[in-house]
Amino acid sequence: MSTATPQKFEFQAEIKQLLDIVIHSLYTHKEIFVRELVSNAADALEKLRHTQLTEKTVADDTLELAISVTTDDKAKTITIQDSGVGMTRAELIENLGTIAHSGSKQFLKSLAPVSGEAPAGQDSASARANLIGQFGVGFYSAFMVAQRVRVYSRSWRVDEPAHVWTSDGSGSYEIEEVSDQTRGTKLVIELKDDCAEYASDSQIKGILERYSAFVSFPINLNGKRVNTVQALWLRAKNEIKDEEYTEFYKFQAHAFDEPRLRLHFSADAPISINALLFVPQDNTEKFGFARAEPSVALYCRKVLIDAQPKDLLPEWLRFLKGVVDSEDLPLNISRETMQDRTLIEKLNKVITKRFLKFLDEEAKHRPDAYAGFYAEFGLFLKEGAAMDHTHKEQLVKLLRFESSLTEKGKTTSLADYVSRLGADQKEIYYLVGPNRAAIESGPYLEGFKARNLEVLFCYESVDEYVMSHVREFDGRKLTAADHADVKLADLPKPEGALSADDTKTLTTWLKATLGERVAEVKASDRLVDSPALALNADKFMSPHMRRMMKAMNKDAADSPLRVNLEINPRSAVMKRLFETHTAAPDKAKLVAEQILDNALISAGLLDDATPMVARLYKLLESV
Ligand code: ADP
Ligand code: MG
Repeated sequence: MSTATPQKFEFQAEIKQLLDIVIHSLYTHKEIFVRELVSNAADALEKLRHTQLTEKTVADDTLELAISVTTDDKAKTITIQDSGVGMTRAELIENLGTIAHSGSKQFLKSLAPVSGEAPAGQDSASARANLIGQFGVGFYSAFMVAQRVRVYSRSWRVDEPAHVWTSDGSGSYEIEEVSDQTRGTKLVIELKDDCAEYASDSQIKGILERYSAFVSFPINLNGKRVNTVQALWLRAKNEIKDEEYTEFYKFQAHAFDEPRLRLHFSADAPISINALLFVPQDNTEKFGFARAEPSVALYCRKVLIDAQPKDLLPEWLRFLKGVVDSEDLPLNISRETMQDRTLIEKLNKVITKRFLKFLDEEAKHRPDAYAGFYAEFGLFLKEGAAMDHTHKEQLVKLLRFESSLTEKGKTTSLADYVSRLGADQKEIYYLVGPNRAAIESGPYLEGFKARNLEVLFCYESVDEYVMSHVREFDGRKLTAADHADVKLADLPKPEGALSADDTKTLTTWLKATLGERVAEVKASDRLVDSPALALNADKFMSPHMRRMMKAMNKDAADSPLRVNLEINPRSAVMKRLFETHTAAPDKAKLVAEQILDNALISAGLLDDATPMVARLYKLLESV
C-alpha cells in the first residue's frame, strides 16, 4: 500500500527507550554517528552488488556504486547518500521503527543456504563477509546530533515508489511518498545547535579518514574522494606487491620509513582473523621517546573499532603496527565499547602465538633480517621473556647473545649454546658488562676460557634482571660467571706458583692488611693471568645491580661494600708481593691496597677513586 499524504506512526515503546539510551549515554563520542551511517550505506551497496548478481532487473542499474556525503554549514545539515538497495515503505517501517531488528542480520540469513538447495556460492559468501551488520542501534546514533532526520529512500525494486521517513527522535515518525529520488537512500540530518560542528567539511573529513578509510566503495565528501586506500589485509597475499604493503604501512601507521618485517595472515578457528602486522625500522623508545602506545588497530569488516586497543596484544608487542580485523566481534550494542573481554583475549592469544612463530621462522630462514630486527627490538623480547609467563618459553628461544665463542658482532641462541655444552656442564654462564672489550679484559672470563666453558656476554642494563627472571633454559640454570658461588673444576697446577703454605701466609697477611674492606681473601681457581679478582660478598646484589641502585638513589647512604678477594698464586705480582710483605711492609701495604682497588675497578665496584691517586704517587716515589 502507498499513500500520497504523510502518515504518522508511534515508535514502539522499546524504541523510545532505546533512543533515550542512544541519545544520552550509549556512545561516548558523538562523531561515531558518521561511522554508523556510512557503514549502513556501505552495507546497502554491498547488498545491491549481490542483488545485481541474482536479479534480472534492478532500478537505475547504471548508477555508480558510491557514497556521497555533503555538508552545509549555513543550513547546519549533513547529508549521506548511497546508491544501495534502498528501502520500500514497508522496509522503512520495519527497519527503522522496530527494536532489535537488524536488516543486515536478516539479509545474512537469506544468504545462508537452505537445506536441500545448492550451497551458496563464492559471491554470497564474500557478500556475507563484507556486510557490516549485527547492530541494532546503528541508525539511531544519528539522533545524538540531530534535531530531525529525514530518510529518503527508493528500493532497487523497479515498481516501488520512493518515500521519505522523518523523525525528531522523540516519539514518532512520519512517512510520505516522494518523487525524484534515485535508487538508494539519502539521509538528511538537521543538526542540533550544539552539534553544528558536524556540518563542517574539515571536521567530517577527519572523521571519515579515521573510521571509514578502508570502506570498499568510493566515499566523496562535498565532491572530493576521501577514501583511496584499500583494506589490504583482506586481499590474497600473492596478489599484493611489496610496494603496496609499504604504502599501506605508511598510510596506516602514519610512518615515513619502510617496514622492517611484515606478517600477513588469516585464521578461521578459534576465531576469524585477518591481520597485517608490521615491525617498523626503528625502535622509537630507544631514542628516549615516550613508551610506545599500542597501535595495532582493531577493525570489524573494514570499519575501525578501536585505533589503540589496550589488550589486543601483550605489552611487549607494543612496537607493532598494523591492523587486525575480525568478523566475530560482538557489536550488537556498540562498536565502541567492547564488553566481551574473552573475545579480545582470544584474539590476543592467536595473534601473539602466530607472531612468535613468525619470528622463529625469520630467525631460521632469514637470519640477517632477524639479527637486524633483534638489534633494534630485542629489548622487547627480553621484557616479554622476563615478564610474560605465558609466552616465556617461546620468547627465550628468540633471545640472542654474543659469547666467548662468537666473533664480535655475531650472536648465539641459548639452544645453540646448549648444543655445544660438555656432558657434565649443568649451567649456562653469562657475564654482564658494558661491552665485549670490557668483559674480555676483566679477570672473570679467564677461568672459564681455560676450562673451555662458553660464557654469554650481556651488554644491556636489563640483562641482569632478564637472566635472573628467566632462570633456566632447557633444564640448565642461567648463572652469572662472576657469582661467588660458582665452582669450577680443578686445573693442573702450573710450575712456579707460590707454595700452598706461602699462599696461605700471603692471604692471611692480606686479610689483616686490608681489614674491613674484604670479607675473605683466598687463592683462586678462576684466575689464569690476572693477579686478583673481587667477588661481591653480597649474594643478593650483583655489582651491576648495586650500580643501578646507586644511580637511582644517589643520596642513600652507601651500604658498606664488602668483597671476597681471590688471588692468583701463579701471578708474578703475587710472588713479588710475597717477598715484599716481609722485606718492605709499608710498600707492600700500598701494593695490597692498589691490587684490591684494581680488582674493584674490574668488578665495577670502585666507588671512589680519589684515595688511589695519592697512593699511586707514593708508590711511584719508590720506583
Ligand atoms: P544494522 O546496520 O546493524 O542492521 P542499523 O540500525 O544501523 O542496524 O540499521 C537498521 C536497518 O536499517 C539496517 O539493517 C538496514 O536494513 C536498514 N538501513 C539502514 N540504513 C540503510 C541504508 N542506507 N540503505 C538501506 N537500508 C538501510
Ligand atoms: Mg548499521
